[in-house]
Amino acid sequence: MSEQFSVNRELFDDVMVPNYAPSAVIPVRGQGSRVWDQQNKEYVDFAGGIAVNCLGHCHPALVSALKEQGEKIWHLSNVMTNEPALRLAKKLVDSTFADKVYFANSGAESNEAALKLARRWALEVHGSDKTQIIAFKQGFHGRTFFTVTVGGQAAYSDGFGPKPGDIVHAQYNNLDSVKALISDKTCAIMIEPLQGEGGIISPTDEFIKGVRELCNEHNALLIFDEVQTGAGRLGPLYAYMDLGVTPDILTSAKGLGGGFPIGAMLTTADIAKHLKLGTHGSTYGGNPLACAVSEAVIDVINTPEVRNGVKTKAQLYIDGLNAINAKYNVFKEIRGKGLLIGAVLNDNYQGKAKDFLMAAMDEGVMTLIAGANIIRFAPSLVIPDEDIVEGLARFEKAVAKLTA
Ligand SMILES: *Cc1c(COP(=O)(O)O)cnc(C)c1O
Repeated sequence: MSEQFSVNRELFDDVMVPNYAPSAVIPVRGQGSRVWDQQNKEYVDFAGGIAVNCLGHCHPALVSALKEQGEKIWHLSNVMTNEPALRLAKKLVDSTFADKVYFANSGAESNEAALKLARRWALEVHGSDKTQIIAFKQGFHGRTFFTVTVGGQAAYSDGFGPKPGDIVHAQYNNLDSVKALISDKTCAIMIEPLQGEGGIISPTDEFIKGVRELCNEHNALLIFDEVQTGAGRLGPLYAYMDLGVTPDILTSAKGLGGGFPIGAMLTTADIAKHLKLGTHGSTYGGNPLACAVSEAVIDVINTPEVRNGVKTKAQLYIDGLNAINAKYNVFKEIRGKGLLIGAVLNDNYQGKAKDFLMAAMDEGVMTLIAGANIIRFAPSLVIPDEDIVEGLARFEKAVAKLTA
């Protein structure tokens, strides 16, 4: 290194805005589900960059797509279209309910597009009174001002002045709370088909179907935020496919790029037509580099092998976590779906999820949390079984230390 300064954790506090508090570990290299830090210490990765690295680190198909496109053309702007974007859009349309795709660069941007489209649709089809957005407490939709206001944690949206208006929050898995709010003035309901950040909460069958019916009764659009649940994370390509409920608009990001920033909003032709020429846009959205990588992601994950692998790997986690719990009695529930798993700490360990995460890091396994009481696992969809076994053994050591 030729720098005249040390590149270490202290430098973060010197030069970065303090909105994050990253761990002391600075990873420099990854391969599959293993990661190495500056000191060459090795970790098993159960975090996947927060449910993003759905094919682990440096998957050969993604590296090759990136290199190949990197030597052709990177960026054009939306004044011109490009081949990777067209191929990716075609594959997304062919694999889902959608007829049309809009590309963005993140989850928040995809949701921003979905919300703006819903408002436009309502205005043009039903008039200027139909503006209400219903979302859910503990929901998470990103950090732009519109999406963070739709998200269900006021703490994230307070303190920035006047908020976008006519946004209300119901309770997840409580259909009556939705009924109490919905009317013909409701423009859309935005919901995660499994709450991720909010605590790994699956919808009941009755609830999610009921939400769809309420939307139908009141001519409101149903928007599924699949930023975390999509791209094969729960097993099917998108979570809606297993729920017997089809949304009107679906957003995807995180795993969609496998680690390269991209987001997408999917919808039907009838709704899409309201985002007409000039109504919305993004400089980078749909750039050839991101779309080429994402196309490779879809080619790999949208296969029976990967889908079935998610099921068997999820079972390995559940069995392993149950075995740890039988020995140390730390969890009151193991929940989630596919490879989005939450281990809920029992009453003896309330508020201690971060302690488990840090102890696990010391033992060489990266995990996530979802709130103060839940340890979250969102590994690569193709993590080798041996890495699951090894990572859980390391996690068990951390649990043993913390409970000693
Ligand atoms: C992560 C996440 C987002 C935000 O995505 P960004 O890419 O960080 O903007 C939105 N919705 C859900 C459900 C998420 O999990």
